[in-house]
Amino acid sequence: MNTKRITILGGGIIGLSSAYQLMQRGCDVAIVDPEPGRGAAWVAAGMLTPGSEAHFGEERAVRLFQAGLDTWEDFARELGGPEQNSVGFERCGTLEVAVDASDRVQLEQSVLLQRSLDIDVIEKHIDEAEVIEPALSPHIRGLFSVAQDARVDPRRVLQCLLDALRQGGARFVASEAVSVALSGGGVAVTLENGTKLESSTIVCTLGSWTNRVAGLERGPKVRPVKGHVLRLFGPPLLTHTIRATTRGRSVYLVQRPEGELVVGATVEEMGFDTTLQAGQIRQLLNDAQSVVSGIEELELREVSAGLRPALEGLTPIVDWLEPEKILIATGHYRNGVLLAPLTSLAVTGMVLGDPYPSASLFGSIND
Ligand SMILES: Cc1cc2nc3c(=O)[nH]c(=O)nc-3n(C[C@H](O)[C@H](O)[C@H](O)COP(=O)(O)OP(=O)(O)OC[C@H]3O[C@@H](n4cnc5c(N)ncnc54)[C@H](O)[C@@H]3O)c2cc1C
Repeated sequence: MNTKRITILGGGIIGLSSAYQLMQRGCDVAIVDPEPGRGAAWVAAGMLTPGSEAHFGEERAVRLFQAGLDTWEDFARELGGPEQNSVGFERCGTLEVAVDASDRVQLEQSVLLQRSLDIDVIEKHIDEAEVIEPALSPHIRGLFSVAQDARVDPRRVLQCLLDALRQGGARFVASEAVSVALSGGGVAVTLENGTKLESSTIVCTLGSWTNRVAGLERGPKVRPVKGHVLRLFGPPLLTHTIRATTRGRSVYLVQRPEGELVVGATVEEMGFDTTLQAGQIRQLLNDAQSVVSGIEELELREVSAGLRPALEGLTPIVDWLEPEKILIATGHYRNGVLLAPLTSLAVTGMVLGDPYPSASLFGSIND
């Protein structure tokens, strides 16, 4: 058994899944975060859809997303149990929808790229829509199906990770980290109250806050990208995840079997501001209504806004800032739930000197 002492800075979905995987491999882990189990994934919809955001020039990222999806089923079984499926993993498939003719042209481009990356996207005739997904608007102009896609409930994933870590003896330190510095043969984290935590390695999974801790200035430049999300509730309207383009804007709808319907999401460059804005909420509702009938009857249970950690490109980074001492895993932008299991395996492999095969698909600090 390996008894390396590892401190994880940031207990969002990337930090908690990395802590979990390291604990499973025998490491002694501590997680530093004033509010672990929240972060962007608390707001996220939980789509596991590698192809839907494919852009030309980002083929490497899509290959990484695909590898991310390939690791999810085993992770869900391990974390949530084979029968009770506590994380809500479902192979529900995605319907990619175009609302008008120019949305259809845009969607066709995306489909070409997805197919070139071996993602199986099948065109459906519009007349089939009412059989495949009866609540879809009869006015849509394009319909494509991706059967491999899945979804999870990110809040349940976070809860399962917290429970497993607590049961396994991981330590939680409810504080912000202020600085990081090499110390003797290891590395030290200074907390808000001046206390220092010494460990052999630290893993920085600070999402949008990556550049806010002293000592990490040479790390990748990460910026927050705000997203509003609505949580509606009522009798389930959908079985598939819907990703639509409606008059040039994107909207998605993620149904949970218990009746929650997640509608998202705006993409806003607003720094660290998470104010909830009426206009953005109205736009999301209008866009959702243009794709699916029956939205207006549902209860509006929750509006929230989260911060996606974004880099210049779509490929997140898992790399050493200081070899064997300070590892950084960040920049998961819109795909951190999809990539949490794979990132945690990549992080664990690097910390323990036992590289995980598809870890090479992640970006490096000096790319
Ligand atoms: C609206 C929205 C919808 C999304 N939908 C999806 C989706 O459907 N599918 C998908 O795959 N992804 C989705 N995402 C993206 C996904 O949620 C993120 O990529 C992912 O949660 C990033 O996780 P993280 O752990 O890297 O960062 P974060 O979740 O931001 O976690 C960082 C943590 O660091 C902590 N922290 C900050 N500063 C300090 C400090 N100084 N010391 C200690 N701790 C600190 C914070 O409290 C936080 O807990 C969505 C995101 C948003 C906002």
